[in-house]
Amino acid sequence: MNPLERLLELQSHDTRIAQLEHRHAQLPEREELNELEHRAGELDGRIETARAQHSELARLQRRYDDDLSAVVAKRDRERTLLYSGEVTAIRELQGLEEEVAALGRRQRVVEDKLLEVMEELESADTDLADLVGSREDLETLMTATTERLTIAAAEIDGECERVRGERAAVAEEVAPDLLARYELLRTQIGGVAVARLEATSCMGCYLTLPLMEVDRLRKLPEVGEAPAGEVDRGSATCPSCARILVI
Ligand SMILES: [Zn+2]
Repeated sequence: MNPLERLLELQSHDTRIAQLEHRHAQLPEREELNELEHRAGELDGRIETARAQHSELARLQRRYDDDLSAVVAKRDRERTLLYSGEVTAIRELQGLEEEVAALGRRQRVVEDKLLEVMEELESADTDLADLVGSREDLETLMTATTERLTIAAAEIDGECERVRGERAAVAEEVAPDLLARYELLRTQIGGVAVARLEATSCMGCYLTLPLMEVDRLRKLPEVGEAPAGEVDRGSATCPSCARILVI
């Protein structure tokens, strides 16, 4: 086979590899996963805040519980003393009665506060459970998306490996100096180093070459068939895009 035709074959493999790599990098699952991770981060922040609020409410509940126990115990003691018959002085009895009444009022205030906190705590419980539930759902979704990504990526990797294998076999059949030129050009001209000359047009950049130039190129000997010191078709390049021309 014409060595330049081999280059075209090599080019089609390289283009295919570049497409596969691009697809690999642009898999929609990657974007989905990024989005899900972002949402998970936000949710983690909200859960942290909700947990802090919850534990603050639980702390308040314990405090009001303790307050209530102390007030009730004190009121019981004073009331027992009031009706024990041990205190007989009117003024002292009045004082005790007022104390018992004041402790009763204090008890109701603490009970109201406790009730309020318990209601808040209940709602905080629900909120926290909802957030944790959403986070678990998200985790499930992330696991499923990661699995889809892994499968899709492995599929492309497999295809890429197959094409690389074919490409290596083709590359072995290209003369080292031509291959080196091709590789260098590929890095310089956006990944495509070789183009076919069809009629008078370069298929790399679609420039129409002057007829005289086309004529000159067509008269060049095949690669490796030029007499010493003369150029062959391997040196034919497009005057516009500099790609190796396959004539
Ligand atoms: Zn061109």
